[in-house]
Amino acid sequence: MAAAIEATARGCDVTVLDESARPGGQIYRQADPRLPGNEFAEPTELARKKRLLRRFDEILHAIDYRANAIAYAAFGNGEIHVQVEDRTEVLRPDAVVIATGTRERAIPFPGWTLPGVMFAGGAQAILKAQRTSPGRVAVVAGCGPLPIVVASQLTRAGTKVAALANLRSPLAILRSPSGLWHGRDIMREGVRYGRSLLHAGVPRLTGHVPIRAFGKQRLEAVQLARVDEQGHVMPGTVREIACDLLAVNYGFIANSELAAMAGARIRHDPDGGFWLPETDEEGRTSLPWLFAAGDTAGLRGALVAESEGTIVGAAAASAVRTVATSDALTEAIAVRNWAPAFAGATLACRARRRGAPTVANFLRASCSPSSSAGQR
Ligand SMILES: Cc1cc2nc3c(=O)[nH]c(=O)nc-3n(C[C@H](O)[C@H](O)[C@H](O)COP(=O)(O)OP(=O)(O)OC[C@H]3O[C@@H](n4cnc5c(N)ncnc54)[C@H](O)[C@@H]3O)c2cc1C
Repeated sequence: MAAAIEATARGCDVTVLDESARPGGQIYRQADPRLPGNEFAEPTELARKKRLLRRFDEILHAIDYRANAIAYAAFGNGEIHVQVEDRTEVLRPDAVVIATGTRERAIPFPGWTLPGVMFAGGAQAILKAQRTSPGRVAVVAGCGPLPIVVASQLTRAGTKVAALANLRSPLAILRSPSGLWHGRDIMREGVRYGRSLLHAGVPRLTGHVPIRAFGKQRLEAVQLARVDEQGHVMPGTVREIACDLLAVNYGFIANSELAAMAGARIRHDPDGGFWLPETDEEGRTSLPWLFAAGDTAGLRGALVAESEGTIVGAAAASAVRTVATSDALTEAIAVRNWAPAFAGATLACRARRRGAPTVANFLRASCSPSSSAGQR
């Protein structure tokens, strides 16, 4: 959205493809306006959402905005192949900005396919897009800040959170925030989410992971256990909690496939355990017409993604036509540069052996403070 706003302001003809039904992406996901009910996020997050969506709304008349449009292929000759419902189309723009975000990393465990077990981001998407909670009694598990955010948002939606199992303690997360929480405002929001869980009396289980989910037709209970430094289940720590929702998040993977498919040079991020397009400071990839912005280019959270969108939108515009600088761009560069060393994903996969202890080991390694990536 930020890249489209900036490129439009610089006189480009802009097409925005979004596989979602409404603009907003992950964090500013919108509900159908006809749905009753509240938003369960922090007021500061809602204010940022309102501001960006208003700015995007202001350019809608001037751009070609396509909802439910999936860019499923990109080629070295600049072609972008798009699917909208049962139609496909080929676009040949002068410049392309890829801002496809991230997805959550799946860690299988027995029972994980039962209805009622979902990614924390999936639970959050239901809260945001449907304005309802996916469960009555929840266990939220994982590492990093997202489980804290989602547990708090579930509580606000009236769900009883029976346990928040995080591999890292809240203090450790605050001391070494992941990319998700870059920026002072977002850190403050994290603290407020954490405080709301304390007030709601949500039991916290640090160092625990879900090892099994049970149920006949759907989720009925979860077994959690404490794991040691090597990721082995510690004897006598297994406990079972009845619930109809298990929301898990063990970090993210950048959606960099389109850039790779187009033939842009990509690099492996050893800490994140995924591939990223190589970009310069303005989001240029190794292909002159292809740019990458936001989480696709490295996980640095919503504030940086928005600023970077402005910077990359300006760079893409100048690849197409000669344009002057703007106040928005100056401000965006200041915000982006403020974020000191961009922390990467919270995940690192260094485990080599297979089996349950290895999965837990992987999770432990993934969530250690030292697994944050350095500057891009
Ligand atoms: C599950 C999840 C939960 C998060 N929760 C929080 C939170 O609570 N607080 C917080 O501060 N940050 C959160 N973040 C991080 C924050 O959302 C991101 O840092 C920020 O949204 C990045 O913006 P972006 O534009 O790069 O990507 P996104 O906001 O993810 O936007 C990507 C857009 O690309 C579209 N898209 C993806 N692939 C295609 C395709 N092939 N074709 C067409 N369109 C496509 C998607 O529909 C989406 O609209 C979360 C991230 C995730 C993944």
